[in-house]
Amino acid sequence: MSNSSRFPRETPRLSRWCVDMFQKHGQAVDITVTENRRSMIRVGKKAGGQVTLRIHHGFEQAPDPLLRDLEAVVSGNRTDAWSRVAAFARTIPAEAAHAPAPVRVRTRGRHVDLQPILDEVNQTFFQGKIEARITWGQQRPQRRRGRKSATVQFGVWDVARKLIRIHPGLDDPRVPPEFLRYLVYHELCHAASPPRRDAEGRNRIHHPDFKALEARYPDLKHMERLSKEMFRLVRGTHGKGRGFSDMNLL
Ligand SMILES: [Zn+2]
Repeated sequence: MSNSSRFPRETPRLSRWCVDMFQKHGQAVDITVTENRRSMIRVGKKAGGQVTLRIHHGFEQAPDPLLRDLEAVVSGNRTDAWSRVAAFARTIPAEAAHAPAPVRVRTRGRHVDLQPILDEVNQTFFQGKIEARITWGQQRPQRRRGRKSATVQFGVWDVARKLIRIHPGLDDPRVPPEFLRYLVYHELCHAASPPRRDAEGRNRIHHPDFKALEARYPDLKHMERLSKEMFRLVRGTHGKGRGFSDMNLL
């Protein structure tokens, strides 16, 4: 077995499988067990011919025949075996097999305490029934000059932690309290109306049911106008800060 092969202790079956591969085929497999759901399995080859395998930890639960299919895949016979391996990958549940890393929750900012806003919104609109925490997001390191992101993510609903994160740029006396209240409402709607797949199999966050729920908020039009102002404010005060990838509100 090559020195670069890793034997993750948490995946004894996959490690055993690697040993078998070497004993049966003389094929050293450099295995890396990942939690990457976008690429559940990737087979590659190093310059020296050694096979590299990046594989989701869910394969640790694969039945024996599937491990034999994996063997065929890695040995270069990708036909039937590959489709069965891919089919198994699709059955691996999305549940957090590993508990998410703990996160520091900071409800009090320099100007605004988020906890009373969360409590009030939860009570008013959801009878206090939504299990959620809230925190100010982390300040991001400064990014390179000259590239301004076109989007700002004001808030995020972190499903795994049942946690709302609010953009730290909104901890500012110029931000109207009603905007923060609306933002918290929007994120609680994500908790109440989770993402779903559309007919094309795409994951939709702001699907029609979500929008219907959000539309119950009074004066939504005003809030949408405010969100544009807040975008400029946050981007101004954080002009040298990092941009965010998605504008959750629109
Ligand atoms: Zn959203």
